[in-house]
Amino acid sequence: MAGIYVHIPFCKQKCRYCDFASFPDKIGLAESYMTCVYREMAMRAPELKDYSFDTLYIGGGTPSVIDESYIAMLVAAAKKYYNLDKNAEITIEMNPGTVSASKIDLYKKVGINRFSVGLQTANDKLLSDLGRIHTLNQFITCVKLLKGCNFSVDIMIGLKGQSLDDISQSIEVAALYGASHISMYALTPEDGTPIYTDYLNGELPDSDEVAEQYAFGVKKLKELGYERYEVSNFCKKGKESRHNLNYWRRGEYIGFGVSASSHIKNVRFTNTFDLDEYFKCIISNHFAVIDRTEITVPEQRDEYVMLAMRTAAGVDVHEYEKLFGLSFMQEYAAAIAKNRDYLDISPECVRIKDEYLFVQNTIIIDFLKA
Ligand code: SF4
Repeated sequence: MAGIYVHIPFCKQKCRYCDFASFPDKIGLAESYMTCVYREMAMRAPELKDYSFDTLYIGGGTPSVIDESYIAMLVAAAKKYYNLDKNAEITIEMNPGTVSASKIDLYKKVGINRFSVGLQTANDKLLSDLGRIHTLNQFITCVKLLKGCNFSVDIMIGLKGQSLDDISQSIEVAALYGASHISMYALTPEDGTPIYTDYLNGELPDSDEVAEQYAFGVKKLKELGYERYEVSNFCKKGKESRHNLNYWRRGEYIGFGVSASSHIKNVRFTNTFDLDEYFKCIISNHFAVIDRTEITVPEQRDEYVMLAMRTAAGVDVHEYEKLFGLSFMQEYAAAIAKNRDYLDISPECVRIKDEYLFVQNTIIIDFLKA
């Protein structure tokens, strides 16, 4: 089954590390934007009428910053225009500085059954340095409102002045309030963001320090019962994100809204990042796609291997053979031999050993052929 992604590009303020499509000064356009998103969903529906979808992911930006009635209409539009499975995983991203009990009640009422909460760190000083709008206390208020729900918490490592204690506390607070899933990402200082200056000034932890923080975080997460299933994603048993697993399995998905990407029938395409251009296209009944690439068969094989190697399960050798009619072991014999010390190899699968997953890029590069 395939997935649906919807991008909500509004936030209260821009975090210092953010290079996502999010426009804090344009929140007044939310109603017009959502009207365009519903229209884009309707426009795309005929070509996807034979598809079944089992995930809907509402991301951003900050979906929880806009009026909850728009989210309710969005879920209704997804159900109206697409074959959305009755047991679909429906996720919304939330910033703790933008939630209320009534919002969460409505989300649940319309069928949202998974919540992704951005904590990033439990340290208020570090939160403020990142330009986050919320405090630890606001996070706690938010997750108390989610008691009994299936929710994930995002935390970050690699922050300026961050200690192992900070990381420990961030994980502990997420676990204490019942997170079923934790994503632990290393900060990437993107060129053009304010935090890039910190990076240029040498104020961020170096790669060895970040690797140490990651290993520490993995150990802590494991102690608290969170198993790693992808390099940055950890969960309690059976609580993997179905939506993201579909990405890593090279599944199909359709994206709506500014900057949203899609992968349908071996074509990858991306919408414009420009809000005005998005409005103009949709209002004139045109798609807002700015980039479209057909993936050749050798590229499909590369993508499959690259994505699978990110996961703890690794490459399913039999599935590879079924999909591409080739033997994975023969095709990649040279790369497997070169990286033998870093891999777990069995007749069923080839996976990167746990201790090398964080440096997977240097291994994966040997597997790319196209
Ligand atoms: S809340 Fe997320 S999308 Fe919004 S500015 Fe911060 S990092 Fe970017």
